[in-house]
Order: sequence, then structure tokens, then C-alpha cells
Amino acid sequence: MVKQTIQIFARVKPPVRKHQQGIYSIDQDEKLIPSLEIIVPRDLADGFVNNKRESYKFKFQGIFDQDANQEIIFEHIAKPVAESFLAGYNGTIFAYGQTGSGKTFTITGGAERYSDRGIIPRTLSYIFEQLQKDSSKIYTTHISYLEIYNECGHDLLDPRHEASSLEDLPKVTILEDPDQNIHLKNLSLHQATTEEEALNLLFLGDTNRMIAETPMNQASTRSHCIFTVHLSSKEPGSATVRHAKLHLVDLAGSERVAKTGVGGLLLTEAKYINLSLHYLEQVIIALSEKHRSHIPYRNSMMTSVLRDSLGGNCMTTMIATLSLEKRNLDESISTCRFAQRVALIKNEAVLNEEIDPRLVIKHLQKEIQELKDELAMVTGEPRTEALTEAELLQLEKLITSFLEDQDPESRLEVGADMRKIHHCFHHLKKLLNDKKILGNNTVSSESKDQDCQEPLKEEEYRKLQDILKQRDNEINILVNMLKKEKKKVQEALYLPAKGRHEFRHSQSPPFPLGNPEGGQRMLLSSAPSQAQDFSTLGYRSSLLHKKTGMREEMSLGRQEAFEIFKRDHADSVTIDDNKQILKQRFSEAKALGESINEARSKIGHLKEEIAQRHIQQVALGISENMAVPPTPDQQEEKLRSQLEEEKRRYKTMFTRLKALKVEIEHLQLLMDKAKVKLQKEFEVWWAEEATNLQVNSPAVNSLDHKKPFLQTSDTQSELSQLLSNKSSGGWEVQGQGAGRFDACDVNARKILPSPCRSPHSQKQSSISTPLEDSIPERPVLSIPLTGDSQTDSDILAFIKARQSILQKKCLGNN
Ligand code: ADP
Ligand code: MG
Repeated sequence: MVKQTIQIFARVKPPVRKHQQGIYSIDQDEKLIPSLEIIVPRDLADGFVNNKRESYKFKFQGIFDQDANQEIIFEHIAKPVAESFLAGYNGTIFAYGQTGSGKTFTITGGAERYSDRGIIPRTLSYIFEQLQKDSSKIYTTHISYLEIYNECGHDLLDPRHEASSLEDLPKVTILEDPDQNIHLKNLSLHQATTEEEALNLLFLGDTNRMIAETPMNQASTRSHCIFTVHLSSKEPGSATVRHAKLHLVDLAGSERVAKTGVGGLLLTEAKYINLSLHYLEQVIIALSEKHRSHIPYRNSMMTSVLRDSLGGNCMTTMIATLSLEKRNLDESISTCRFAQRVALIKNEAVLNEEIDPRLVIKHLQKEIQELKDELAMVTGEPRTEALTEAELLQLEKLITSFLEDQDPESRLEVGADMRKIHHCFHHLKKLLNDKKILGNNTVSSESKDQDCQEPLKEEEYRKLQDILKQRDNEINILVNMLKKEKKKVQEALYLPAKGRHEFRHSQSPPFPLGNPEGGQRMLLSSAPSQAQDFSTLGYRSSLLHKKTGMREEMSLGRQEAFEIFKRDHADSVTIDDNKQILKQRFSEAKALGESINEARSKIGHLKEEIAQRHIQQVALGISENMAVPPTPDQQEEKLRSQLEEEKRRYKTMFTRLKALKVEIEHLQLLMDKAKVKLQKEFEVWWAEEATNLQVNSPAVNSLDHKKPFLQTSDTQSELSQLLSNKSSGGWEVQGQGAGRFDACDVNARKILPSPCRSPHSQKQSSISTPLEDSIPERPVLSIPLTGDSQTDSDILAFIKARQSILQKKCLGNN
């Protein structure tokens, strides 16, 4: 048992704006417990938090200032917890702090750079690395990912996420057994055998969460997320199983309702969050007070789920995330205060061992069988039930092959079953008799041996049948071998070709057309012997396919709009950067794969050379009649050191390739996520545009209703009007009929709004291809309408959306 208080750490986020001096200071004397002092500026101190103190001091186990990177955080905070988790103890790490203070950044990681990956990916990497090293135990790992939003539990890994929205999925609910153990109903557990699989699950959950999020439901700041690794371990042959759980928790923002102070739904949500964190606080207060018998865990879902982590069987660590800017001082102080209370809680972590009854039964059954056999042998007591027909046939086959076996050492193994032993003797006796009769009768006339003719024939028939069977088996085996050989040859021929093909793929931009797996498979083909290592990507690609599947269903107009939206989106810069990094990594991996192959063949050659050299030496020794080979051969020594060197090189390169593989995988997942986000934002923008249009243009709207298929000449001419918007002077738009559009500035057409435009993209859009380049100009009346109502209305919607933007832009300019 390990008794320990909850460990508390503080992490200060780099400020968004320029560093504000003198707001806090950190005292990191090595002998003393580190402390964080928050200094309230004079202008704020008046009337601040019910007194006039000017500074507040808080002690932490560790304080990480702005410059602490993710690696340091992992090493100091997460690694110790992961280590005790591997030893069989439960562990929890939770991040607490106001929205924007860096909880998600700390727990999951940043969305852009590989080096920004947070505690979860690093911990997964560490755990799987350790498990791989330890072959003394059999380990099983499962992952679950729970989100608690408005007191409702959602399974972020529910496979039905693809098809339904959060609300349609069954809620995760809490069940308590008579021993007061908590069980979560409807929370799926997914086995993960590698780091890659576990990482895929993390990204799947995050993507599902992002997709479920709407502007009205900003789940990411108002919900709690609990990523759990479940580990069971067992020594081979033992019936004792150890279980441990590791919760990595990203809590909801801890800010107060007053700050969120808005009406309607938002208030309800804010209240809930507060309620949920309020209950957490209550539990923590109760736990930190001595002699409290009742701890109100049951008040909220989150405290129920984390019950063991708080004052129970768990090693728990809290990270207080702080955004120490002037306007956040009160929130930061309350986060630190919360941490001080948490630090008082004592937990008692025990090893969770349990005897697996199924394994015990299996062991016992085996033992009983052995004892029975032994008993039967010793007492000679017959068993009651007779041998079955199949058993008899099997025995006779054994006898036949025993008799036929020329090997004098061969034995007839029938086990410790007296019935079988008896039958063998009977059968042998019968065979012997038959042979005798056969011998006696070889010269007799046919009429004489009529009565023994029958058994003889039967015997011969059986023998022949046996031989036939044996031959059949042989043929089958040979055919299988042949098939395998053939396959090998085919693969050998196919692989290089495939490799080339994949390489081309990976050279093309991975976004949006590229194959995200291209590079991964390329690794595979350049280092064939690591095939298993690099082939677990099917999962991710299917996820991505499902998530971005919407894209394929888009009509042409929408797709074009999407392309422009994408180009102007701030995230596209990150995506492009990552694309570049990915490309570099791919080529590095490819080169490494080739070098590895070279090193491998070099090692093979060296080994061969050494062996040859050795044989030569021995032969020389014999021919020169020397009992011992001559003094250590220098040439051989040299070869050996070369071999060692080559092996070292191989190992280093292999390790690097493995690390590269993880990085590539991570980057691909980041990009996938960014793509889904982009797609989502596009859908939102598109829907908004459509609604705006419906509100703004009843005339066009009603037209739509009347003629949904756009096939009459009226509609065609409206469309042509909408499209013939480019005159020699510039961008002239005339909404005929409605008369809504005035002539616009020529620049207007160049800008397609995006909810998230970066300065960079704006700059880019004003110099790069204008909109009409993306939308091929066609003779006015020849815009091909597809006849499909959905597609056609999409086309029209797109055109209208464009018009409305232009119109807005015009109004803005005027
Ligand atoms: P929270 O989850 O607490 O609401 P986030 O983790 O989303 O906050 O952080 C808000 C923003 O600040 C994100 O853009 C994140 O990348 C950035 N950020 C947070 N902590 C750090 C840090 N330590 N270093 C660099 N950027 C950070
Ligand atoms: Mg967050």
C-alpha cells in the first residue's frame, strides 16, 4: 500500500500579449517547497476579493513557468504516475483551471506541432515502450474515453458516433454494486495493442467531440473529459491478475458564472459546470477535513466516476493551469486556493490483484484429469464408458503406423487409459492371428479358406484406405507448400511495384487529394522486414474516410466553394506547414529504410565472411597439423568489429525509424483533425449563408419553391443573370427582379468570407487568384444543371451566397 497526498503542480501559460511584469514570482529554492507568489497590482488591490492584500503565496510540489515545455511536464508530472500505474496502482492526473489557461494543451497537446503533444500521447508512448520491454508478464490494455457534459455521460468512442449525434447515443450511466464499486454502463472499452492504436483512439474521441460541438454547445470548455487506460497483467501460468486504471482528465473551465453571465442556454450550461465543479470542491473540502464520515461523491457524475481518484485507491496528481494576466488574477488565485485544499487529501493506493476464477477452474480441471489418469493406472480400475467408434479407429491407426515404423525406438503412445491399452493388445492379437492364418493358407485352395477370406479382405481394404489417407495428406501438404511459394514469388514481384506507386502518392500533396497512408506504406515497402511494425493504419484511414465522407457527397458548386473557403482559412497555413514537415519525414523515413536494408545485408555479408574465415583457419590448422588454431586472426578481429559497428548503426537507425513512424502518425492525425475542423466550419458557414439568403431574399426564395428543378427558361435566365456578373469595367452585379445588387468594387469578388481569416490568408487572397479563376467561366446559358434537385439547389445557393457576400462587401465599402 502506498499512502500519499494528492500531488499538486502549477503550470503558468505564456501570455497572449506581451509579458506583464511583476504579476507573479516563483520561489524555487531547491531545499524548500517551491512557492508561487501572485502580486496584485495597486490599481486592482482596492476592493479585490474582499480584502486589500497585495500578494498571495501558494506552495506546490512543483511549479512550471512559461518556458517549461511538454517534455519537462511529462517527465516531472506524468512519468512517475505512469510508472506506478505500470506497477499495478491506479493513477489519475487532472488539469484544473479557467478556460484558456492550458488544460487541453497540457493533457492532450497542441493541435499544430508534434513537439506540442501533451501528457496523453507521451504517456501512451511510454507505457507501450515499457510493456514491450517486459516479457515476464502478459499485458492487456484497453482504452475508454468519456465526456461529461451537463451531468450526462457520453462515450466518445461509441462506434455509432459516425451515424448519430451525441444526443441520440445512449447515455453513459453509473451503476454501483453492493460493494460500492462504480461501473459505467454504455462506456465502451477498446483494446489497444500498440501505441498507434491507442493514439488512434485518442484522436477518434477528440474528433467525435469536435464534430458534436456546435456554437451553442461549446463542449470543449464546458465539459469534462476522462481518457482512461485500463491495464491488466498476469504472469504466464498464474491465475492472479492485476488491474490498474489511469485516468487522464481535462476538466471544464473553472471560471465563475458571473463572468459567463449570459442568458438562456449558456447560463444553464455555465450553472451546470459550476455545479459539477462545485460538487468536486465539496468532495475535496469534505476529504480534507478530518473525521468527516460522509463524502458527497454521489452528488455528481464526475465525482462518482473519479471517486477512487479522490480520497481512495489511487495515486492522484493535479495540475493547476494558470494564465497569469492582469484580468485573470482572481481566477488564478481561486485555482491556487483550490489546489491548496486538494493537497490535503490523502490517498491510499493498493495493488488491485484478483484471482481469475476461469483460470483457476481451468487449472483444476486439468489437475483432476491427470489425477484420474494416474488413479486409473494405479488401481487398474476400468472406466465405465466404452471407447467410441472414432477412438477405436484412431487407436487402430496408431497401431498400424507403429507396426509400420522401421525405427526401433518408436513407441506406441496411447496415454494412461487402461481401456485403450487393453484394446491395443486385443487388436495386436487379432492382427497376429490374422497373419498366422494368412501364412497357413497361402498354398490352400480357394474353397478351403473361404471363411477367412472375408476378414483378410477387410484388413487389406483398411490398410489400403490408410495408405490412401496418408498419401492424401501428403498431397495436401505439398499443395499448400506450393501455394505459399507461389505467393512469395508474387509478393516479391509485386512489392517493388507497389512501393513505387505509393511513393508517387506520397509526393502528391496529402491535402486534400493525397492518400494519408501513402508514406506509411512507403515505409513498409522500403523496409519489408518491419512489415508488421508499420501496418496498423487501416483504423485511422477508415476513421478519416468516414469523417470526411461528407465531402464526397458535395455537389460541384459546394466543392468549389469549399476549395476557396479552405484556401482562405487560417488553419490552411498550419496544414501546409505540417504537410511540408510530413514530406520531409517521409523522405527521411524512406532514406532510413533503404539504409537499414543496406546495413542488414552488410551484416549478413560480414557474418558470412567471418564464418568463411573461420573455416579457412580451422582447415589451415588441420592441414598444418596444429591442435589449436593459430593466434587470433587479425583479419577476423577486424571483421568482427566491423560487424559490431554495423549492428550498432542498424540499431540506431531502426530506433530513429520507429520514432519517425510515431511522429508521422501523429502529424497525420493532427492533419486529419484539422481537416475535419475545416470541413465542419465550412458546413456551418454554408448553412449560415443559406439561412441569410432565405431571410434576405423572399423573392428568390419563393421562386425556388415554385421551381425546384430549375429547368424553366425563367430560372435559367435568373441564373444567367446571376452569373453574367462580370463586365469589362469590373464587377457589376445586378440582381434582376429583386433589383438588390448595385455595382461593386472590383476587389469585392476576391474575398470570400471565412469565419477565421488569418492576416496571412487575407494578404494572400488579395494577390492570388480571384474567385472567378476557381469557378470556370462558361457561356452564360450553358451552365449545366444536373437535373438533380439537391445538386442544382446547391449550385444556386452557392451563387447566391457569393452574391450576398459581394453585396455586403459593397455596402461596407460605401
Ligand atoms: P483550456 O483547455 O484550459 O481552455 P487550452 O489548452 O485550449 O486551454 O489553451 C488555450 C490556448 O493557449 C491554446 O491555443 C493553446 O495552444 C495555448 N497554450 C496553452 N498552454 C500553452 C503553453 N504552455 N505553451 C504554449 N501555448 C499554450
Ligand atoms: Mg480545453
